[in-house]
Amino acid sequence: MARTPQHDVVVVGAGLAGLRAAITLGHAGRDVVVLEAADTVGGRQRTDAVDGFLLDRGFQVLNPAYPAVRRWVDIQALRLKPFPVGVQVRRERGLATLADPGRHPSILAATLRSGLLAPRDVAGLVRWAATALSAPRRVIRQAAAGRDLPVHEAWDRAGLTGPLRTAVLEPFLSGVIADGSFETSDAFVRLLIRMFALGRPGLPERGIQALPEQLAAYARTLGAEIAVQRRVTALRETAAGVEVAVAGADPVSADAVIVAVGPEAASGLAPIPVPRTRGLQTWWFATDAAPSASGMIAVDGTRAGPVVNTAVMSHAVPSYAPKGMHLVQATCLLPPATHRGSFDSPTEAQVRRHASQIWGTDATDWRLLRRDDIPHALPAQSVPLRTVTRARLSERVYIAGDHRDTASIQGALVSGDRVARALIAGAPS
Ligand SMILES: Cc1cc2nc3c(=O)[nH]c(=O)nc-3n(C[C@H](O)[C@H](O)[C@H](O)COP(=O)(O)OP(=O)(O)OC[C@H]3O[C@@H](n4cnc5c(N)ncnc54)[C@H](O)[C@@H]3O)c2cc1C
Repeated sequence: MARTPQHDVVVVGAGLAGLRAAITLGHAGRDVVVLEAADTVGGRQRTDAVDGFLLDRGFQVLNPAYPAVRRWVDIQALRLKPFPVGVQVRRERGLATLADPGRHPSILAATLRSGLLAPRDVAGLVRWAATALSAPRRVIRQAAAGRDLPVHEAWDRAGLTGPLRTAVLEPFLSGVIADGSFETSDAFVRLLIRMFALGRPGLPERGIQALPEQLAAYARTLGAEIAVQRRVTALRETAAGVEVAVAGADPVSADAVIVAVGPEAASGLAPIPVPRTRGLQTWWFATDAAPSASGMIAVDGTRAGPVVNTAVMSHAVPSYAPKGMHLVQATCLLPPATHRGSFDSPTEAQVRRHASQIWGTDATDWRLLRRDDIPHALPAQSVPLRTVTRARLSERVYIAGDHRDTASIQGALVSGDRVARALIAGAPS
């Protein structure tokens, strides 16, 4: 029987990291095969059409200010629809609006009236965020030198202790970092805030999956082969190369392999400890009457329930809902799995009740389209922040993914590129 030819590189996983790695390798003229277990590319960035609505797998946004996105993504082709820059905050007396006056000058008066901007808090916010805004590299260097701490401690030290923190920053950021105890690295959170200050997050008209699809299309033009429904079950290194075992298919051999499978699967294929992850849960509702005229994300400043953020998606991205209908998302934190494998997750009644409170409307008759439970939504970004890890695990096996750099689109893209470059250079990195 004829042996299948040996490829230069097999990339395992067609998420952002694997796809970016394939592009960098393709540019260098390497013969690349990407093996993806799922039935499509994108990994955690997936979009499904459900009853005429577009549902991403969990609420997420794309910030065009990420340096990796600016450099490697054709944002214009994605037709990114931005969310308004600001946040609506449920308070005892109604919904207050906090918006960037530079970008939404008409909301300035409402922002000042919100009662959320105590001078002491504003001074604390500036103290806390200033270095990340003016000298981000210094934040990374300091963290690399071990000078980092949980973000809740950093807020305490900066004197950021009033309503701007408890009613806005905490509810809003808990959904972004999937962490309600704020043990996440202060350096990481400050760098995220820098990105929010620089960019206007939005979503591609066709859903978040349009991003990895764009990368996949480009990788193919560079000669990469991308095969879906190919679950890699084992890697066996020999003197001549790596044999990649694939469930239900012939093995594939290559000179080298990049494992780009995401934090929940990485230690099954590579000798690394299981990365800690954080979970999110998004409820997608259809309604013919939008609960707000704004596309701005809303949070509960009174913290009276499980929803950490909610938004009328179809205001910001009309293509997410059929004509005459609206799509509302409500996101909760998903607690870690118990030892029995079950989740102590919010109930539908709790989510509807809380969404009703936040929007000041009745959400009990909204049609539930889908609930996404994503236990491994993000790698935990613990203290101290470490943005670079070893690319090469053995002679022929490399590893990439957001869990190796930072827990974000930026981190996944940078990781794929960095590891592919290390492979090309043959460097220990
Ligand atoms: C709900 C949610 C909200 C988010 N919000 C944001 C946000 O607003 N901003 C932001 O920057 N980031 C956000 N993120 C994070 C961002 O989506 C990820 O950081 C990024 O997509 C990770 O890409 P990756 O390539 O590292 O991993 P993944 O996307 O996990 O890709 C890994 C791929 O490997 C495949 N695979 C696994 N095992 C095997 C195997 N054995 N064989 C073959 N293939 C395998 C998987 O199917 C998957 O396709 C969010 C994530 C989620 C889930």
